[in-house]
Amino acid sequence: MRNAYAIGLDVGGTRIAAGLVERKGRIVREVKLSTPKGSGPFAIVDAIVDAVSEITSGLHPSEIAGVGIGLPAQIDFTRQSVEFCTNLPLAGIDMRGLVMSRLKYPVTIDNDGNTAALGESRYGAAKGIKDFVMVTLGTGVGGGVFIGGKLHRGSRGFAGEIGHMVIVVDGPECPCGGHGHLESFSARPAVIREARAAAETYRGSSITRLAGGDADAITAEIVIEAANAGDEAAVEVMSRVGDMLGEGLVGLVNVLNPEAIIVGGGIGESCPMVSKRAAGRIAAEALAGRRDVRVLIAELGNDAGVAGAAALAFDDHDSREGIH
Ligand SMILES: [Zn+2]
Repeated sequence: MRNAYAIGLDVGGTRIAAGLVERKGRIVREVKLSTPKGSGPFAIVDAIVDAVSEITSGLHPSEIAGVGIGLPAQIDFTRQSVEFCTNLPLAGIDMRGLVMSRLKYPVTIDNDGNTAALGESRYGAAKGIKDFVMVTLGTGVGGGVFIGGKLHRGSRGFAGEIGHMVIVVDGPECPCGGHGHLESFSARPAVIREARAAAETYRGSSITRLAGGDADAITAEIVIEAANAGDEAAVEVMSRVGDMLGEGLVGLVNVLNPEAIIVGGGIGESCPMVSKRAAGRIAAEALAGRRDVRVLIAELGNDAGVAGAAALAFDDHDSREGIH
């Protein structure tokens, strides 16, 4: 069938996932590969092209509506250019042009927080919700804002960087170079940093046991496992992650009056106390009339990026064809 599928790519610092996605969001074929490290942008383009070739084998090009790519980067959506990228060497690289020159499909790129929000909006926890804020807690903190049923992109497409709201004046340095941003409290490196300190204070903590007695072996997953099992030190660490997230969300709830907040990413989805604590902060601190905002956990998990990038490609196709 013509344009029955779109290809969604979720390009991360460690992994690239590519999926062949139906209009209703079902991923019918998927490949995952490691992101080529240290060999520059062309190796990443090669990997993307290889992944697309693999999942489209046997299909006629007319069956593909297009390719959507979510990148961990600041993207000028109007120009379709990568402006900044901290984890991959893509800044200033015309990713869309490079990929498009190698494939026979139209290509659209977007920030991965936006594609995750698009995915949850179309196929996941935010289905049917017009005004919501998506926040993803993982290696970094990303996000996307939906207003009136549409992704809010701002003047150049950079909107939605929830991870870079200032939570504490002159706080710890953020990977972006700023200070006290939400990402410096609620992403994986912050969890590990705080857990090392907490494991020092609480000597019998299961964080230490799970890490085999080696503070350098502590991962966010270990801390979450311990927190979910009720370990005091881990609960303290993860509660603080949720409180800091809540502090940021209070401001967004007051400004945007969303119907829901969708909490996703590896940390958000595997540690319910994070969203619970954040909801508690909102209930305590948001202005009257806004406190009934629902705080929901994302539903698509690792598929949000691929499904959302495919939704982006379908939308781009439909607007080119004048389909609404
Ligand atoms: Zn920042």
